[in-house]
Amino acid sequence: MTKINFPTGFQTKAIHAGEEPDPNSKASTPNIVMSSTFVTDADAGFSAEGVEEARGWTYTRWGNPTLHQLEEKLAALENAEDAVVFASGMGAITALLFHTLQAGDHAIISDVAYAALSEMTNDMIPKLGIAISKVNMSDADAIKKTLTPETKLVYIETPCNPILRLTDIKEVASIAHEAGALLAVDSTFSTPAATRPMELGADFVIHSLTKYLGGHGDALGGVVVGSRVNMTPLRKKTSLRLGGIMSPFNAWLIMRGIATFPLRMKAHEKNALQVARFLESHPKVKRVIYPGLPSHPQHALAKEQMNNFSGLLTFQVENGKEAAHHFANRLQVIHYAVSLGHHRSLIFYMPSADLLETSFKLATEQQLESWRLFAGKGLFRLSVGLEDAEDIITDLKMVLDEL
Ligand SMILES: *Cc1c(COP(=O)(O)O)cnc(C)c1O
Repeated sequence: MTKINFPTGFQTKAIHAGEEPDPNSKASTPNIVMSSTFVTDADAGFSAEGVEEARGWTYTRWGNPTLHQLEEKLAALENAEDAVVFASGMGAITALLFHTLQAGDHAIISDVAYAALSEMTNDMIPKLGIAISKVNMSDADAIKKTLTPETKLVYIETPCNPILRLTDIKEVASIAHEAGALLAVDSTFSTPAATRPMELGADFVIHSLTKYLGGHGDALGGVVVGSRVNMTPLRKKTSLRLGGIMSPFNAWLIMRGIATFPLRMKAHEKNALQVARFLESHPKVKRVIYPGLPSHPQHALAKEQMNNFSGLLTFQVENGKEAAHHFANRLQVIHYAVSLGHHRSLIFYMPSADLLETSFKLATEQQLESWRLFAGKGLFRLSVGLEDAEDIITDLKMVLDEL
């Protein structure tokens, strides 16, 4: 066999990038290397500072062949130079914040973003002497007004969790760069099948691999993707010293998931569009938000920036909190559970009052108005899975009809 030496398509990359037959056994599927340590020569350094890939492997927290395969595959999917994987999406986000920020710096974070990041930037990060501003990232003027000479990082999520509001990556990249700040994009909801933020000017891309890339709800993982110049120090400083590294077993599972990821995203999108249309037609449903529907407030941007509208949608009904009990008790196919991007459909209710109190401290009337436009008094977040669309619809219809 010869190494692939021509430019390949996205599906081929998902299957082959980072992998090759095992040189010893000729195994076609990658072996998992679970070893925590590797036999070295007598000249190998004991400090991670001196680690060079050319020397071979030393200790799995410093680097591991299975983790390396996954990192190569993810970098290829994002059309980026390098990637560093972590034990979870939050592990990746923490590493990125430690890598880019220090006391005296300022960062602008999406005012609606993954809840654990929001909560972390409400208290833990400011306690380290890093100033944080929360801004509606669909409002370019608000971002411009918030930039200061100390702003080192602009952090967006598109579509953002849980309200599915979009951010124009290209526009925000140029705003950030003009001010000398770096742009990080959490692209978990969009996935590289839809959007490749590095190509639109982002400096870092974050994924929770727990979601669509792994895709089967059986392995947590996270990744930071970026240029080699940024990733080499990030790897040394954060995965090595903070230690939140991924288990090689999870890396192997996630690689197995990624092999079918481009095909799964097509099926997620197809199902989600059918379910979204059904929900929009149901009299008990007040509002549906899905980037692929013309009724999404930013459908034009979605069409421009997303080659796949993904499988996530939200919908609103009267008395959502009460309805949530019916959904949790009566659904048969869809699991009432957090998380998303699995082959199984998952649904979860999020009341606005609770989220605005615990996670998202929206300061201005404009921010609240934007929240209400997308989330109303509360939303059901539905991660449309890969079951037959008809069955997902039947399951939802039975509960909605009874409300
Ligand atoms: C789930 C999620 C995360 C966190 O990932 P974990 O793997 O659960 O730590 C970060 N960002 C987004 C958008 C997510 O959906």
